[in-house]
Formats: sequence, C-alpha cells, structure tokens
Amino acid sequence: MGWDFQTDAEYQEKLDWVEQFVREEIEPADRMYAHPLDMRDPVRNALIKPLQVQVRERELWACHLGPELGGPGYGQLKLALLNERIGTTLSGPVVFGTQAPDSGNAEVLAHFGSEELKDRYLKPLLEGEIASCFSMTEPAGGSDPTGFTTRAVRDGDHYVINGEKWFSSNAKFAEFLVLMAVTDPDAERHNRASMFIVPADTPGFEIVRNVGVTGHAGHEGTHAYVRYNDVRIPAENLLGAEGEGFAVAQVRLGGGRIHHAMRTVALVRRALEMMMERAVSRETRGKRLADLQLVQEMVAESWVQLEQFRLLVLQTAWKIDHYKDYKLVIKDIAGVKMAMPKVLQDVAGRALQVHGSLGISTEMPLGKWVLESFHMAIADGATELHKQQVARQLLRDVDPAPDLFPSQHTPRLEAAAQEKFAPVLAALAAEGAQ
Ligand SMILES: Cc1cc2nc3c(=O)[nH]c(=O)nc-3n(C[C@H](O)[C@H](O)[C@H](O)COP(=O)(O)OP(=O)(O)OC[C@H]3O[C@@H](n4cnc5c(N)ncnc54)[C@H](O)[C@@H]3O)c2cc1C
Repeated sequence: MGWDFQTDAEYQEKLDWVEQFVREEIEPADRMYAHPLDMRDPVRNALIKPLQVQVRERELWACHLGPELGGPGYGQLKLALLNERIGTTLSGPVVFGTQAPDSGNAEVLAHFGSEELKDRYLKPLLEGEIASCFSMTEPAGGSDPTGFTTRAVRDGDHYVINGEKWFSSNAKFAEFLVLMAVTDPDAERHNRASMFIVPADTPGFEIVRNVGVTGHAGHEGTHAYVRYNDVRIPAENLLGAEGEGFAVAQVRLGGGRIHHAMRTVALVRRALEMMMERAVSRETRGKRLADLQLVQEMVAESWVQLEQFRLLVLQTAWKIDHYKDYKLVIKDIAGVKMAMPKVLQDVAGRALQVHGSLGISTEMPLGKWVLESFHMAIADGATELHKQQVARQLLRDVDPAPDLFPSQHTPRLEAAAQEKFAPVLAALAAEGAQ
C-alpha cells in the first residue's frame, strides 16, 4: 500500500542542500538587484548565473520537467518539496528554472508549439537564457475571459492583432508573449479565442506603461499595460488549433497556480518561524510574549493552518503526478488557490502583530507579505471564482434527496434499520417466546 509521508533519502539529501543553498547563497543575492529576470543587469547576471550552474550540477534544474525538456522528470510532488524551500526568495525560481510565467509558457510551447517555435523559444527559455510573458487579462476586466476583445484576424499566412492587454507581467523583460486573442467573435463563448506566440520585437507591439503593485519596491513596476497595433505574426505562431485558446490556457494556468501555492508554504512557514522567535525573545510585564495565552493561540492557529494547507498542496501535487491530467484535478487546484491567500494573510498578519511596531515597519518583510496575499487573491483568477469552481465541482455529481426529507433524516434511517434487522428481532422474539 503506497501511503507515506516520508521523502526518500536520496531526494532528502538534495533538499537539505537546497535549504543551505537558499540561506547562504540565494537570500543574500536577492538583496543585490531589482529583478531576477532583468538580464540586462550585470550584477544580476554575475550573481545568478553561477548559482544556476550549481543547481544544474545537482540535477535540480527545472526538476519537474522530463528529460525531453531538459529536466530530470521529478514531477510536481518533488517540485512542491523544493518550492517549499525556495519560496521565501525572489530569485529562487529563476535559479532553479521554475519561475512563472516562464514555466507555464514552456509547458504550452512544449504541448502546442511547432518544431520551429520550440527551437526558437522553448530551448532558450528552458535554458534560462530568455524570459517570457503571458498576455491574457484585458483592461476592461480579467475575471470573464469570454468578454475579451483583442482580435487576431487571419490575413493570408499571417494573423494581424489589435487590442490591449493589462498586467502582462514581465513584458519588459520578455523575448516573446503568449497572447490570447479572439479569432472568431461569433463562435460559442469558449471557442472564440486562440493562443499565439508574439515576438516582443514585432512592429506595433507597444508597452503603454509598466504598472507597479503596492508593497513592491520602486515606482515603475513589471506588470505591463500593453497595446497591439496591427501586430503581424506568422500563422504558424498559433498554438493549438484556432478556437482552442481556453483549452491551451488551462494547460498553463493549472500548473502556475499550484506552483505559487508550493512557494507560499515557504513564506507562511517563515512567517511562523519569525512569530515564534519574537514570542520567545520579547518580554512584557515580566513575561515572554510566548507565555501569554493569546499569543500562544496565534502560534497554534498558525501552525495548524500551515500544516493543513501544506497537506492540501502536497496531495494536489501528488494527484497531478498520478493522473497526469490537469482536468482531473481542477477542484483540487481551485481549492489550493482559494486557501492560499487566507493562510498567508492570517499567518503573516499574526507575525506582524506579534512584532508590534517593528512588524509593520519597512525593516521587516511582514507587511509586504500581507499585501502579497492580496496579489495571490487576484492573480491567476480571483478567489471568488475559485470558490465557485470548487463548489460547482463538488455539487456536480450529488444526487438530490429521494423525497421531501433528506436521505440522512433520522426517522428514515431508523425505519431502514428496523427493516434491515427485522429478521433478527423476529428471531429474538421467537426465542423469547419459547
Ligand atoms: C500580481 C499580479 C500579476 C498578474 N499577472 C498577470 C499576467 O502575467 N498575465 C495576465 O494576463 N494577467 C495577469 N494578472 C491579472 C489577473 O489575471 C487579473 O487581475 C484577474 O484575472 C482579475 O481580473 P481584474 O483584475 O480585471 O478584476 P475584475 O475582473 O475586474 O474583478 C474584480 C473583482 O470582482 C470580483 N469578481 C469578479 N468576478 C466575480 C465572480 N464571478 N463572482 C464573484 N466576484 C467576482 C472579485 O472580487 C474580483 O477581484 C495579474 C494580476 C496580479 C495581481
């Protein structure tokens, strides 16, 4: 029976190395540059590239991918165990070849790209030599992709694209964008859009501005408001068939969501460690904070939330490996996605509270993590939609009650038990009568 919560010794050894590597190499490097994907930054290149070499030597580069894509094929569960160690860092995903949106875009290219597209984009992307962008959300609203208006019109052996996209993260670093655009506005709602590769240097592609998010350093952000002005791309840049944009998107979004959750385990765990360190270090009225029951409650609640969330993430990762079909884990991924912001917000929020004024100060990362929980509640689909998804999936196969009263109505169950055991009771009655 395959039911186990232990990591095999060989992989555990790698994870132990990762833990030390994160602490001694990646966390200090994080403090030295603005963005780990800015390949024009010489400091970033000088620091990150040697770390990537070490990761490859340990056979941990893009470890969830199979050998055909340059990874050792460890799958999602082992990636989860890795990500829950590197998720405290900004550069960890880049150092280990697992960063969003590149990992999802690589999956899409591997599934749907022509050989030429794979040669031109997938290989350097998997090598960590270029960055990419996923360009789907529109300024008029992201929660309902069936309302998108960016158009791709076939013109001979090209498509011509016009429209605007919003929060196209990392567009300013990207060599190419994976774009969703409407190819047939009259088709059924989910067959209107298609997915394309758009090289970032195509004439007509414009970054209107780079939008920042609250809590991140610097005024100029990395989430681009972009415009496609008569952008002409070869027809072979279509990924999958025309009208399959939603199906293609699912391939990348499922993976992206669970990868964020794996890294969130790391942040939550770090927040709890910080909360506990502060609780045993700080004194008030002659007692440690750790000796106050309300602080103890914060610690205990946080630990239980973390462990519950982690198990859900690991189980979902295991299911992805097991079923090898994202469609069969839609409910699980949506469940992880809806749980993620709350766990981070609660635990980072409590850690902030226990640190008092220092906690809310810019000298600690806790306020940033609380805000980060709001990014998580919006990016890759708002929490409300994931809650609906979980509920829909759960309710889909539930039968209604047989009549006015529920199937578990006590009188019904008592009557059924009486009927089931009537022969036994009758036999006992007969025995008694003798
Ligand atoms: C940090 C970050 C990075 C991102 N990166 C990318 C990227 O790289 N590429 C990309 O294409 N997009 C990206 N996005 C955009 C993201 O996908 C959208 O923000 C998201 O889909 C929500 O769309 P919206 O912001 O337009 O909100 P809206 O669609 O306007 O929704 C606003 C709010 O309305 C409520 N709401 C919406 N629909 C429902 C519903 N059905 N039921 C109940 N309540 C509802 C929710 O509270 C929701 O938060 C990113 C977002 C963030 C925050």
